[in-house]
Amino acid sequence: MDPTLRQQALRKIPSVEDILSRQEMSDLLKVYSRTVVVEAVRRGLRQLREEISKGGESFLADEALFSFETLLPRFRKEIDWLAQPKLRRVINATGVVIHTNLGRAPLHPLALKQVVEVAKAYSNLEYDLVRGERGDRYSHVEEMLCRLSGAESALVVNNNAGAVLLCLNTLAEGREVVISRGELVEIGGAFRIPDVMRRSGALLKEVGTTNRTHLKDYEKAIGSETALLLKVHPSNFRVMGFTSDVSLEELVQLGRKYHLSVMEDLGSGCMVDLSPYGLEKEPTVQDSIRTGVDLISFSGDKLLGGPQAGIILGKKNILDSVKVNPLTRALRIDKLTLAALESTLLLYLDEKKALSEIPTLKMLTLNLQTLKNRGRRLLKRLQGKIETSIQITLKEDVSQAGGGALPLQELPTIVVAIQSPHHSAHSLEQKFRKANPPIISRIKKDALILDMRTVLDEEIHFLAEGIEKTLCKTDET
Ligand SMILES: *Cc1c(COP(=O)(O)O)cnc(C)c1O
Repeated sequence: MDPTLRQQALRKIPSVEDILSRQEMSDLLKVYSRTVVVEAVRRGLRQLREEISKGGESFLADEALFSFETLLPRFRKEIDWLAQPKLRRVINATGVVIHTNLGRAPLHPLALKQVVEVAKAYSNLEYDLVRGERGDRYSHVEEMLCRLSGAESALVVNNNAGAVLLCLNTLAEGREVVISRGELVEIGGAFRIPDVMRRSGALLKEVGTTNRTHLKDYEKAIGSETALLLKVHPSNFRVMGFTSDVSLEELVQLGRKYHLSVMEDLGSGCMVDLSPYGLEKEPTVQDSIRTGVDLISFSGDKLLGGPQAGIILGKKNILDSVKVNPLTRALRIDKLTLAALESTLLLYLDEKKALSEIPTLKMLTLNLQTLKNRGRRLLKRLQGKIETSIQITLKEDVSQAGGGALPLQELPTIVVAIQSPHHSAHSLEQKFRKANPPIISRIKKDALILDMRTVLDEEIHFLAEGIEKTLCKTDET
């Protein structure tokens, strides 16, 4: 195609100054900052330039292409985009309950309320209201964590990776930590136990093999340089078949015999037994503490269902030394986390309430009937609004706990499966991500799957609206 024609077209693009001098733009400048408006105009013009360099002759011949009136909607769209937060709510229809990429645990309304309450004004974050003097940031949750778990002492840091780093650095810097080869896990998001250990200054002493590690393997590895015996929850995988590992109880006894500390990284750390709900039997936080282990750590935003945090529980004398490590200051949690965590923990005082109200636990224990009803409500809202060639049906499927918790657990679920003759499941999945709020789904064979387990009741209308708009748009194209 003729390059001079393209050059001519490019020259017809109005300048940023010309555009900004228009009345409509002055009106926008009253509402939005100059930075945003100017950037939006630049972005709009850049798009136009790209379209011109790709466009054919008839496209370039269209004079309306360059008129301010044609361009204005582009600028408005760009302004909307620039002025809106990029971290936003999405609808999790993947069925993965603790989805690290989607922000893990949604918080309970009471936790949210408390976050707002504490954040909008001053608080007694580090102020002792009884004595009228400086107080301790961690005191607000420490007692509650001890009460719920049976531990002597507690500390909360930024996340569980931080908790592991801090504990290893405090207890084993420059010394050896004995760990089974079967537990040298990678959690994802670049968290690998061996890497974190190295950064903590501890020296890794691997024992056993990938599938089998015995107590005598640990015992043989113990020497004058040994500081700690570490057990790590193999969160996101299981070795099947000819396997054997050493229980926490056995490790604690071995530690006693050799006067060594024992720590367990629980990963998810569940505070209630979920096995009565048909879920895998997992040792709870309380079970671990009962073994007499010196330290355990786990995440605040996995099965616990609270905010991002790393919870450390254990023996008082050991936690006292962790608390004075300067790294604790570097890893400290903020007041918003603390507010959300304390409110979440309060719900655990009544186990039934915790199970029926904390979003992650509630989702994990939902029964099929509830899921079916949710799916039916969605279908009902869509009735008559979707073209008949598009198949929308309820199906049985399985969801996952996610977050490294219960990796083998299959959670029977109900999904809404969508199949369109106009579009592949893949393209539907993309389109759903562009809905407002974005809908994150999964694909199974040729169908788009919306898992009812992780969709909140209050999101059904968003979901219906998003589906309707997306599928109608699909039909036009
Ligand atoms: C998830 C996990 C971590 C990391 O926890 P974060 O809170 O994400 O930092 C560490 N160890 C295990 C075993 C885990 O499952």
